Parts: sequence; structure tokens; C-alpha cells
Amino acid sequence: MSGIKQNIDNLLKALPARVTLVAVTKTRSSEEALEAYNAGLRVFGENRVQELASKKALLPQDIQWHLIGHLQTNKVRHAVAAASMIESVDSIRLLEALNSEALRQERVIECLLQVHIATEETKSGFAVGEIEQTDWASVSAALGAVRIRGLMGMATFTEDTDKVRSEFRSLARLFSETRVRCFSDNPLFTHLSMGMSGDWKVAAEEGSTMIRIGTLIFGERIKK
Ligand SMILES: *Cc1c(COP(=O)(O)O)cnc(C)c1O
Repeated sequence: MSGIKQNIDNLLKALPARVTLVAVTKTRSSEEALEAYNAGLRVFGENRVQELASKKALLPQDIQWHLIGHLQTNKVRHAVAAASMIESVDSIRLLEALNSEALRQERVIECLLQVHIATEETKSGFAVGEIEQTDWASVSAALGAVRIRGLMGMATFTEDTDKVRSEFRSLARLFSETRVRCFSDNPLFTHLSMGMSGDWKVAAEEGSTMIRIGTLIFGERIKK
């Protein structure tokens, strides 16, 4: 059995059934990605539109591709053409751009709102206050080709598990409050994407429904 398949089997065995495992294939070859496919995974994540589109063209067509990195407005067209979900939506302006493009391409694009929960400044996303103060029911109603499916967030990169846990816990609370406040009539607001190789266990304990894993499946990334 290949290392990749073994790693995936181990993760799937350890994960609660409600959690979807997203294979993060950035910097990996399409052969490595295909091994993850052959081990049964169907949801893959990339943080760049170009890399997502070129892997998508080489790999089986039943893979759902999630964009998990910052999306610039000038790449919206390619993103909508290739991705099934944008997990990294960080502004209403971007939601509007995605909506216009999805209308033009006659499709619906699934989105998660990325929330800034870490103390590092490098991680983008909506501020917690913006999520709390926006009427997402109206935003959603005005954007017919965008489906807001939930929230995504990244914890601070630290060994301090208590800190990571408290960040994930606040995000999970924000997720349920937002669902109650704005999506009580909308059963599609169901995803809470939190947890990476270093912190997925804590995230799963705190209510994650989607974890994004690269290193634990494919090994350490060579820094580019
Ligand atoms: C790279 C990346 C991951 C996966 O990271 P690992 O630590 O290798 O599991 C998850 N989420 C995002 C947004 C990423 O950019």
C-alpha cells in the first residue's frame, strides 16, 4: 500500500463521520493527487486558481475542487470556471463579482465566508464583527448565483493548543449564531471548514465539518 493511501486510511479511520476530508494538493504532482483519488477522496483543495485549473484538467472529472487561497477579482472568471467551491471569500465585493461571473457562466458557485480568527495579520478573512453585523439573509437573497454554504477559518500557527482550541471554539460559536440569525430558512448553511495537518484533531473536537489536509497525506511540502 502506498504511503499516501495509508495516510488517508488512517485519517478517515480517526475522523468523525460528519467531517469531510479535503486533500490539499498545492505543490503536489498530479500523480500524487491521483493516488489520493484512488484512495477514495473526491474533494481536493488548491490555493491558486491556475494550479487548480491545470490539475483539474489532468485528473478525473468527478473531483470537486475547492479554492482555499485568497482570490483576486481579476481571477474570478477562471475560478468560477474551475472550482466547485470558493472557501476563501473575504469580502462582499468578491461575492458580488463571483455572482456576476456565475450568472454569465450559467452556474451556481458555492462559497464559504473566510473569517479572520488568528492573531497573525497574514491570514485574510472577514473580521468577526463584520460577520456578526452583516445581514447575510439579504446578501444571499440578492446574489442568486452564489450559495453561501458556511464559514472557514485558520487558527494561529502555534504549539499552544489552548489558544488554537479557543479560536476554533469562537469560530464554531459564530457559525451557529450566524446560522440561527440569518440562515434559519436556508438549510444549505452547513459547512464549518476548520483544521489543517497540525490542528485538525482540535478542530474536529470543536465542531468542524471539513478539514483541509496536505502534509499529513502527502508529506512535508518543499518550500517554493
Ligand atoms: C496549505 C493549506 C492547508 C493545508 O496545510 P497542511 O498543513 O499541509 O495540512 C489548509 N488550508 C489552507 C488554506 C492552506 O493554504
